[in-house]
Amino acid sequence: MSEQSVVDRSTFDQVILPVYAPAQFVPVTGQGSRVWDQQGKEYIDFSGGIAVTALGHCHPALVNALKQQAEKLWHTSNVFTNEPALRLATKLINATFADRVFFANSGAEANEAAFKLARHYAITRHSPYKTKIIAFNNAFHGRTLFTVSVGGQAKYSDGFGPKPADIIHVPFNDLAAVRAVIDDHTCAVVMEPIQGEGGITAAQPDFMRGVRELCDQHQALLILDEVQSGMGRSGKLFSYMHYGVTPDIVTTAKALGGGFPISAMLTTEEIGSVMRVGTHGTTYGGNPLACAVAEAALDVINTPAVLDGVTQRHTLLVGALRQLAQEYALFSEIRGMGLLIGAELSSDYHGRAADFLAAAAARGLMLLSAGPNVIRFAPSLVITQQDIEQGMALFEQAIQDLLNR
Ligand SMILES: *Cc1c(COP(=O)(O)O)cnc(C)c1O
Repeated sequence: MSEQSVVDRSTFDQVILPVYAPAQFVPVTGQGSRVWDQQGKEYIDFSGGIAVTALGHCHPALVNALKQQAEKLWHTSNVFTNEPALRLATKLINATFADRVFFANSGAEANEAAFKLARHYAITRHSPYKTKIIAFNNAFHGRTLFTVSVGGQAKYSDGFGPKPADIIHVPFNDLAAVRAVIDDHTCAVVMEPIQGEGGITAAQPDFMRGVRELCDQHQALLILDEVQSGMGRSGKLFSYMHYGVTPDIVTTAKALGGGFPISAMLTTEEIGSVMRVGTHGTTYGGNPLACAVAEAALDVINTPAVLDGVTQRHTLLVGALRQLAQEYALFSEIRGMGLLIGAELSSDYHGRAADFLAAAAARGLMLLSAGPNVIRFAPSLVITQQDIEQGMALFEQAIQDLLNR
């Protein structure tokens, strides 16, 4: 193919593996919760890069951290450690249940590490047969073969040959179903405290506490995948903090770097102690650039101003959504926590989430879906009231466009 100096949306179809169906415009710059495309058209961003850009686009604290570190040290590998990684790990430990941190680059890798750790812990401390992983229907844990097999949608794991074995799926928020399958051969129960890709469904408090008790009875680990729900998204630093449970392993990614790729697996000293030099690893994990940005993000997010602000913005956004729901009879349920909000389309509109996203984009609003029936809102945690109001007005216009068509 000839070299192209000018690229646009049509280039995507020629050069990128066809695993995505991106919107028809190409974002070029972003500032706060606003984005501009190649034609200079302005958008309000309610998508937040799928719950990643938690401080909006080009937040000055993150830009500054990246620039400063960019002129200092980019990469050393894990043959050497580095100051940003050590500082970030210390801050994550101080802010959570954890005593040990493993850094990686994506949510899938953090989960892969978590599942390997849970298996290795059970095999080392208990028995070679303690390998069963209990996970939930509709769960999403990433796209490596192990994580996609633990995920609860077979359509993502079918077609790639033999899957990792001894993984069982049960309905989410169904404690009896967990009780029916958990046993002394179970090494871990894995859950998203708020199922994200599966449609924005939060764990019920009794369910979360019940699963914790069952794990304790059977010496199984409770792994919470907070890749989407963590880093302030729920209104607390991690959403497990709403439930009064202490997990054994937590994974975080998405918003951890505010848009710079980084993930982390958090665990206790006791569980982490089964790992030895060489048991697991990654080249980029703990990269100084990524850790410097994530440290800046954590410093900003883990403050009462930002976390309480999430709760206020939740009220504002959900209030506006409920009004639209009344006016247009479009939604059967509005749910979620903090700034991870799902609006389920009523049955007349099932399967049409993508149409709403396209109509919103035409009006200058970036939105997400969570499956074919749920519109997902995951804006910046510091989005202004004005941007929320303006974005909801654009959403209403998009709804009218769609209904009048
Ligand atoms: C996005 C997501 C993942 C996967 O993260 P990647 O960075 O895409 O690998 C895993 N778990 C949950 C809950 C997610 O939302």
